[in-house]
Amino acid sequence: MDFLPNEEPVTAIRAASAARTLAELETAIVTCRACLRLVAWREEQGRVKVARFRADTYWARPVPGFGDPQARIALIGLAPAAHGANRTGRMFTGDASGDFLWRALHRVGLASQAEGRRADDGLTLRGVRVTAAVRCAPPANKPTPAEQAACRPYLDRELALLTELRVIVALGGLAWDAALRSLRALGHPTPRPKPRFAHGALAAIGPYQLLGTYHPSQQNTFTGRLTPPMLEAVLGHAVELARIEIAGLEPGVPYTS
Ligand code: SF4
Repeated sequence: MDFLPNEEPVTAIRAASAARTLAELETAIVTCRACLRLVAWREEQGRVKVARFRADTYWARPVPGFGDPQARIALIGLAPAAHGANRTGRMFTGDASGDFLWRALHRVGLASQAEGRRADDGLTLRGVRVTAAVRCAPPANKPTPAEQAACRPYLDRELALLTELRVIVALGGLAWDAALRSLRALGHPTPRPKPRFAHGALAAIGPYQLLGTYHPSQQNTFTGRLTPPMLEAVLGHAVELARIEIAGLEPGVPYTS
């Protein structure tokens, strides 16, 4: 992987490990320029835009995690979409994948509204945080293995700073592997044989429960590979595993912030 001339591959490691709070971690993430290819791509998307968002000012920077700092549940996606989170600056906000995800989170009682179109739309989450394995939008939604490795310290640190965290929901196989690597970095070795990703898969890793679901990408939701009841069932399972600690949560009952 190429790095900018004034940066080193250890940039994310240093920045992440220095963060003592989620706020400090967010500051480190949004100023990161470690991966030359992704910095160029995310910024180009913000300059070129697409016709339907021509009037928008794109975020075009790395996207930090979003949600409850006391989260018992963390959802891990792949990476920001070029015209979704890379445009709005909030995970899963402003694209079809997010529309699908927010509706499901709202239906199981974790999101205050069923839509997330803009970063200032008032959406709040309780008991859950939404984050990603890679923080910059990659070309063709495919970060390279080196880019995934470069960005992983941010996920490691975010999971460590979520002191109430018990359940991790991986949105897709890449997020599943990223979660296993981050948990290993936090001192929780991957069991042998390695737990395999599948929709609905569950693995106990140290004090955490790792759940798998197909990613709510259009390739999966438009083809029926992932339906709303399928995603809600996995999220409902996550709530069951964590619900004792989520005061006032009534599964299936949407809440209003
Ligand atoms: S992908 Fe991660 S490590 Fe690479 S530039 Fe973006 S925030 Fe930094």
